[in-house]
Amino acid sequence: MPNQKRRKDVRNIAIIAHVDHGKTTLVDALLKQTGAYHFKDGEATIMDSNPIEKERGITIFSKNASLKYKDIQINIVDTPGHADFGSEVERILRMVDGVLLLVDAFEGPMPQTKFVLRKSLELHLKPILVVNKIDRPQARPHEVVDLTFDLFCELNATDEQLDFPIVFASAKDGTATFDPADKPRDMKPLLETMIHRVLPPVADPAEPFQMLVTMLDYDSYIGRISIGRIVHGCVKVGETIALVKRNGDVKRGRVTKILKYQGLRRIEAESGEAGDILSIAGIDEVKVGETLAAAQNPVALKTIKIDEPTISMN
Ligand code: GDP
Repeated sequence: MPNQKRRKDVRNIAIIAHVDHGKTTLVDALLKQTGAYHFKDGEATIMDSNPIEKERGITIFSKNASLKYKDIQINIVDTPGHADFGSEVERILRMVDGVLLLVDAFEGPMPQTKFVLRKSLELHLKPILVVNKIDRPQARPHEVVDLTFDLFCELNATDEQLDFPIVFASAKDGTATFDPADKPRDMKPLLETMIHRVLPPVADPAEPFQMLVTMLDYDSYIGRISIGRIVHGCVKVGETIALVKRNGDVKRGRVTKILKYQGLRRIEAESGEAGDILSIAGIDEVKVGETLAAAQNPVALKTIKIDEPTISMN
């Protein structure tokens, strides 16, 4: 649409991969490259790890990170690879405008690669292929690109999706190149691809506030935390906003805190606007899939089916 406003200073990107193909290492490398890494070892963060998650030894709540490159805020959202989290994957993918599809340069695409890629293609996202671990002695980067291309075809990717950018990386060494024969230096080839090949979010700050709650977190001091992308408008700390429940009921509450990502850490902010992925505290009755909206004439955003058991945070 010609009149859509876009936030040129933001990119929202999810990382999708089979387990162990290097998501965590890649995010660390990107944070190191952009100077945000020191936050990782910094003071204690709010909800860095969740007790339920630790207990079960699985990732329930996705980890997000944010970095700045050439004055562009790149929000990176982790996506669970496992099919048990199908609707969570879908909710997360609806927050972003692009995905990094990470594939091990030796193993090639695996079952979880297929699962998360299928979801991304269905949601009309155009993936960037990152062939990782090219430093492995048995790496076969070109074959892995071909296998991934075949997988795209099998999943009925459109011509535009098939024309995916390719970056070869060693997340472990903190390097990326456009050709595996090039001399690796740093992560810039990947960062450049991210800012040039992922569209800035469509976002109009002048419209009434609306945010779809994609994930929940809990902190013993500040209570339930809604995580999601602001789709329209702005929100400020102290403001009274509405919560539109799934059955259409409307509750009201006051925004007590807004937290934005900086590196792997969440920092307090005064306000947020359309295009931002952030956390809002103060609305305690919220559930995943519900809408936070302007107090006047609140309207729900389109939600998606929730098919996994709801995890009680209390
Ligand atoms: P995740 O499960 O996708 O988050 O994967 P991790 O980032 O935890 O990486 C899984 C394993 O692969 C770890 O042992 C990493 O050290 C290793 N790894 C990650 N990236 C690379 C890489 O570029 N080269 C090599 N050789 N190993 C890597």
